[in-house]
Amino acid sequence: MNLYQALSAAWPRSGTAIELADSDLAYTWDDLRQGSALLATLFTDLGLQPGERVMLQTEKSVEALMVWLACLRAGLVLVPLNPAYQKAELAHFLKDAEPRLLVVAPEAFHWASKLAFQHEVDWVFTLGTERQGTLLDRATQLLPRLTDAVLPRADGDAAAILYTSGTTGVSKGALLTHGNLRSNAETLVALWGFTPDDVLVHALPIFHVHGLFVASHCALMSGSRLRWCPRFEPVLVTQQLRGATVFMGVPTLYTRLLGFAGFTREAAASVRLFVSGSAPLQAETFDAFTARTGQVILERYGMSETGMLTSNPLRGERRRASVGPALPGVQLRIAQPDAEGVGGVEVKGPNVFGGYWKRPELSATEFTADGFFRTGDLGRLDADGYLHLVGRAKDLVITGGFNVYPAEVEGHLNALPGVQESAVIGLPHPDFGEAVTALLVPQAGATLDPEALLRTLRGQIAAFKCPKRLLVVAELPRNAMGKVQKKALREQHAGLYA
Ligand code: ATP
Ligand code: MG
Repeated sequence: MNLYQALSAAWPRSGTAIELADSDLAYTWDDLRQGSALLATLFTDLGLQPGERVMLQTEKSVEALMVWLACLRAGLVLVPLNPAYQKAELAHFLKDAEPRLLVVAPEAFHWASKLAFQHEVDWVFTLGTERQGTLLDRATQLLPRLTDAVLPRADGDAAAILYTSGTTGVSKGALLTHGNLRSNAETLVALWGFTPDDVLVHALPIFHVHGLFVASHCALMSGSRLRWCPRFEPVLVTQQLRGATVFMGVPTLYTRLLGFAGFTREAAASVRLFVSGSAPLQAETFDAFTARTGQVILERYGMSETGMLTSNPLRGERRRASVGPALPGVQLRIAQPDAEGVGGVEVKGPNVFGGYWKRPELSATEFTADGFFRTGDLGRLDADGYLHLVGRAKDLVITGGFNVYPAEVEGHLNALPGVQESAVIGLPHPDFGEAVTALLVPQAGATLDPEALLRTLRGQIAAFKCPKRLLVVAELPRNAMGKVQKKALREQHAGLYA
């Protein structure tokens, strides 16, 4: 089935679908039907064939979301990109994805169109955040066509290429199908209890699985209303939460909300569900959130290649520092567990992609003989089947022959007085192979004494897990989704023990 059909089945004939948080403009369900029909007509009229790629590198807008819906309807494959990417990155993605059509921000047209020309892209349009640009100019010239037309698609047909965040290396294109995305959206809508009465505050970017697929699809598929924030901003989001029922964020959004005094128990009172994911949620943030609002954040885990994999329950215990049990329909196992049960997380299910775009070698090594995908994350399952992630395989520190899982050490460091957050990495060391090294960010106004902190830590965890050095830094390098860039940290401090 075409994913568009599955998403639009619950849309009412009339009524508001999306409200803009920063203006009084609202879009009806019919606007979504008409707008996506018009864009799908344009793409088809330009000669784009099913399976061909449409690359989208713009700031967040409802029209950008309509480009996604239009691609689905016309059987085209959307390739969304972070608008922060510059020339070198865009050139790489153009070469890799070979789109026939590129949509960019008006400000980027002069350089992006040149690159597109060099990469033999047939069409380049612009789309701004104020409904301006050549894409809409051109589409609105068309005669309105059947608003219900949808190209039939099979579950295995490609719908999107989502580039991974590049946290561990170069971004890989995950080829996702209509079936992958539909099954995951259906599972989440049911699991998280979405109904047409929900109102979701959307403050995430839409070039990533979290904002585009998890947040948008849950709302669209259940016919619930979206409150659309152009970006995350604590004051704006807090204001939008009044009367809303669901919010989804990455951990840094929660820390920023908690840093805003106006975000109170009362401001969050109408919200029935706060979801966190994309990066580990600190136990301190989890607790501080409950203390502030009386509500418990639901943490879930997923990735570009698979969509969502595990979730803490809607009803039932949401465990601190756990991402919850596997979703219904997802098989999850721990490969080669050590004495503590920690091993590689492997998954299988209708939501799991079939392989990487143009990377057959990776597609071969990242799947097991029996069809499980190796996520690259390390974790263990507790007695109740809740998954506890301990870090990525590539971030595992092996020191003097011992395995040290960064998340465990970070959990202890974060709990020490005056510590805001931490990152544990392994750095080359002449004796130990790798030396456990911690970077600490102090809480506002706090001064950290690394020696004293180390003494405390030594009383809590085994000596081989304790960092050889504690470095106090102002902040940790993060990408757009709030993921700590450990690769960059390792490179930056590579010579520390030389
Ligand atoms: P790349 O694959 O290019 O190195 P990436 O893995 O960061 O980048 P994404 O697909 O955006 O790219 O992110 C998926 C990863 O995010 C997961 O494999 C996992 O490591 C991490 N992640 C997602 N949710 C959580 C969570 N709740 N807790 C801890 N880690 C999480
Ligand atoms: Mg990854």
